[in-house]
Amino acid sequence: MSFRFDNSWLRDLDGSFLRLAPDAAPAPQLLVFNRPLAQELGLDPAVLEAEGAGWFSGAALPEGAEPAALAYAGHQFGGFSPVLGDGRAHLLGEFLTPDGWRFDLQLKGSGRTPFSRGGDGKAALGPMLREYLISEAMAALGVPTTRSLAVVTTGEAVRREDGALPGAVLARVAASHIRVGSFQFHAARGDAPRLKALADYAIARHYPDLAGTPQPYLAFFDAVTARQVDLIARWMGLGFVHGVMNTDNMAISGETIDYGPCAFMEDYAPGTVFSSIDRQGRYAWANQPLILAWNLARLAEALLGLFDADPERAVDLANTRLEAIAGAYRAAWLAVMRGKLGLAAEAPEDGALVDDLLAAMQGADWTLVFHRLSGAVAADTAALRALFPDFAAMQAWLPRWRARLGACAPEAVAAQMRAVNPAVIPRNHRVEEALAAAGAGDMAPFQALLAAVQAPFREDEAYMLPAPSGFGPYVTFCGT
Ligand code: AMP
Ligand code: MG
Repeated sequence: MSFRFDNSWLRDLDGSFLRLAPDAAPAPQLLVFNRPLAQELGLDPAVLEAEGAGWFSGAALPEGAEPAALAYAGHQFGGFSPVLGDGRAHLLGEFLTPDGWRFDLQLKGSGRTPFSRGGDGKAALGPMLREYLISEAMAALGVPTTRSLAVVTTGEAVRREDGALPGAVLARVAASHIRVGSFQFHAARGDAPRLKALADYAIARHYPDLAGTPQPYLAFFDAVTARQVDLIARWMGLGFVHGVMNTDNMAISGETIDYGPCAFMEDYAPGTVFSSIDRQGRYAWANQPLILAWNLARLAEALLGLFDADPERAVDLANTRLEAIAGAYRAAWLAVMRGKLGLAAEAPEDGALVDDLLAAMQGADWTLVFHRLSGAVAADTAALRALFPDFAAMQAWLPRWRARLGACAPEAVAAQMRAVNPAVIPRNHRVEEALAAAGAGDMAPFQALLAAVQAPFREDEAYMLPAPSGFGPYVTFCGT
C-alpha cells in the first residue's frame, strides 16, 4: 500500500468522467522514476520502484485506484470543441499526502477512451520524456507546474508520422486536472447543476477560503485570474513558450499543464514560436499574455450564469474583470522583471526601463543576458557584450539601470539576480540530443540533462551554452 487514495472527483462529480481501465502494457519497464518527488509527497520510493512498471503503465492498479477519463471541452487555436476529454489519459485517483495535500495521479499514453476520436490513445517515448524533463525544470525554476513521477516504456510500438516509435506512459501528479475546458464542457451543454457542482468542487479543492463568501463564483474567477496572471508572467520572464495555450490546457489551480510542443526561447525575438502546427503564431512568446486574457474571457463566459441571475448584470461583472486583466498582467510582469534586474522597490520609470531593455536585447540570448547582467552591476560588461551582435543600444541602457540600482552593494544585487535568473534552462539542442539518445536506448544524456535543469541556478558551462550555429530553426511537434 503506497497511495492513500480518496477519489472525490468520482464521488462528487457524476457526469464529468467515464470510468474505464487503462490498457495493460505488454512489457512495461520503469525507465525514469522521480525518487525525490516521491519522497516529497510522502510516498514510499521502494514500493513505487518495485511496483512502478505495473502501476505507472496501466498493467496493474494500485489498491484504491479508480481509473477514469475526465470530460472536458476546449477552444483549440480559437475553435471550440464541445467534447475533448482525456483521449489518451486515465486519472487513477486522488491521493492524500501525510500533510493532508490532495493530488491527482494520472497516466498519460495509457490507451483509448471514448474521448479518443481518431487517436490511438498512446504516447511515444520522446514526448513523455520531454514532458518529464521540462516539467521538472519548471518546478526547479519555481514555476507552478504539474510534476512527473515516472516514465514507463510499454514494450509496444506506436505509429507516428515518422514511423514506429517506442511507446511510453507518463505518470503525472497534479494539484488537479480541472481546466477552463472542464467548465466549458457543462456550459456548452447548458447543464447548470453540473456546472455549479464543478465550481463548488473547484472552490473547495483550490480556494477553500472562498466557500461561503457572498459572491464565491466571482471571487473564484478573480482567484483563478490572479494565479494565471502570476503564472504567465513567470513563463514570460523565463522565455518559456507553452505552445498550445488552448482552454483545455489551462488549469484553474494555476499550474502549468500539458507540456506538448513547448520550448524555451534562446535568442530573444518576441514572435518566437516553436510548434509546427502554430502557423499563425497564435501562441508565440509575446502573445501569451493576450491569450491568457482570451482564455479567461472563455472561463468567464462559462461561469456567467453563476455570476448573477440577471444576464446583463453578469456580463457587466465579467467585463469589469476582463478589462482589468491587462493591467494586472503588466504589474505582474514588471514585478518579475524587477526581480530579474535586482531592483527591490518600484519606481514609475520601471515600465520604460524594461521596455527599452527588451528593445535593446533583440537577437541576444534571453537567458544568458540576464545571467550575465548580474556580472555587469559594476562596470564589467565584457561577458555581456559578447552576447550582442550590436551592443550600442545596450551600452546606452546600462547606465540607466545602474542609476536605478542606486547605492545598493553590487555583490548583494548580483547574488540576488543569480538567485532568480537561471544559468541553465533546457536548451533545445540538449533536449533533442537527450531524446534522440533515449530513443536509441541510451539514457545517460537524459539523466545528465535532467540533473542540470534540476539545479538551474548552478553554473554548468556544458548546459549553459546556446546551440552551435547550424542548429535550428527549432520546430516542436505536438505530443501525439
Ligand atoms: P493535447 O494537445 O495533448 O492537449 O490534446 C488535445 C486533445 O486530443 C485531448 O482531448 C487529448 O486527449 C486528445 N489526444 C491527444 N493525443 C491523443 C492520442 N494519441 N489519442 C487519442 N486522443 C489524443
Ligand atoms: Mg491537453
